[in-house]
Amino acid sequence: MRDGIVVVGAGHAGVQAADALRERGYSGPVTLVSGEPELPYTRPPVSKDLLYGDAEPEPLRPASFYRERRISLVPAAARGIDRDARLVHVSGGIVARYDHLVLATGARARRPDQPGSDLRGVLTLRTAADARMLRGYLRPGARVVVLGGGFIGLEVAAAARAQGAEVTLIERGDRVLGRGVSATTAAMVTEHHREAGVRLVLGEQVACFVSEGGGVTGVRTGAGGLVAADVVVAGIGAVPDDGLARAARLPVRNGIVVDQWLTTADPRISAIGDCAAVREPLTGAITRLESVQNASDQARYIADLLTGGTSRPYRALPWFWSDQGSLRLQMVLRSPAHDRTVSVRNGARTSVLRFDGGLLTGVESINDPSTHQAARRLLDRAAPTEAELAEVDHDVRALARQVRQEKVGA
Ligand SMILES: Cc1cc2nc3c(=O)[nH]c(=O)nc-3n(C[C@H](O)[C@H](O)[C@H](O)COP(=O)(O)OP(=O)(O)OC[C@H]3O[C@@H](n4cnc5c(N)ncnc54)[C@H](O)[C@@H]3O)c2cc1C
Repeated sequence: MRDGIVVVGAGHAGVQAADALRERGYSGPVTLVSGEPELPYTRPPVSKDLLYGDAEPEPLRPASFYRERRISLVPAAARGIDRDARLVHVSGGIVARYDHLVLATGARARRPDQPGSDLRGVLTLRTAADARMLRGYLRPGARVVVLGGGFIGLEVAAAARAQGAEVTLIERGDRVLGRGVSATTAAMVTEHHREAGVRLVLGEQVACFVSEGGGVTGVRTGAGGLVAADVVVAGIGAVPDDGLARAARLPVRNGIVVDQWLTTADPRISAIGDCAAVREPLTGAITRLESVQNASDQARYIADLLTGGTSRPYRALPWFWSDQGSLRLQMVLRSPAHDRTVSVRNGARTSVLRFDGGLLTGVESINDPSTHQAARRLLDRAAPTEAELAEVDHDVRALARQVRQEKVGA
């Protein structure tokens, strides 16, 4: 390869891909095109630590890292891809030539579209700049309305409440984390936020945003109620940033469609992280995950693939965490299906085991990091049966220890 590898997007996926390429001995040019003005930073604190005081984003790597590893960090947005000439056009007239292009453009926060959604004070949360904007509103007595009871909405609610704001969270489903966790865990999360003083309004939609003189002053719900607001934060999901790929006539379907090798329809272009929609070869089903684990694992995989370290399809066990005040939720999912759950409590620690057809398919842990770690080790190897877990009183750590001892003894 002479022209080198261009990575577009310097989030968790893009930076990890550039890093892993050098780790694996790739010596050609590596260009990292970054769409944000700051040194690439870790994104999860945007809805957590960055909502307090004057906290600054934590860089993913120090500035010296890019110089030392000869990674050209271009702080501008990619505007277009010329696939025939193998060029990426970047703002400011810069042109980057590639042998291989990695798209790691992530996702954007979905904006609400009800009347009044463009009012001042109706915010979304994706970047450090968004966090700075929101935290300006978070003070004792401020009326904060959060739309969406997903991970980001709940994290914002916790941070706003911890700073003394009056928080109302409106969720259109009949429970929080409807897509994310089992009903058992959702009930515990709900209890945690209610105890903290968050007002949860479930099963309600937003009809419009209300204003008296420019900025938002309230949210009108579908049922006709009015919730007063100094600020509204929409945590209603993310939209993959697949515009560059679409314009380059690559297939997109809720993300940039890639095969099991994370390769697009163009063998010289891959997509990783939040923007990548992985297509299952047999069923055609698309999986697009939004997590640091997924972004990092896909990035390491693509570096392996491009440097000849692997030729196998991508495979990794998905796991995730969310910090909501004093509640740390961690989950690992071998498959999203479950027909039964078993809760295991140990003092303040709880884990919910998800079973499907008698096999363990996932574990959701609340303030129980050691069970989460054990579940990752266990599920990475195989799905244990419910009978095996019943023999150890559903103690995931005990079964993980047993399995490890058997492996060492084998
Ligand atoms: C507020 C928030 C909190 C989160 N908390 C957690 C958590 O607690 N745990 C967890 O596991 N996950 C969490 N996530 C999800 C996790 O942060 C993402 O899955 C991860 O950041 C995805 O990494 P990525 O590199 O694919 O995308 P991103 O982090 O979105 O990075 C993509 C980058 O590409 C840039 N870009 C886009 N288009 C262009 C272009 N044309 N040219 C140049 N650059 C471009 C974007 O500006 C961005 O900087 C959170 C996400 C958010 C938004």
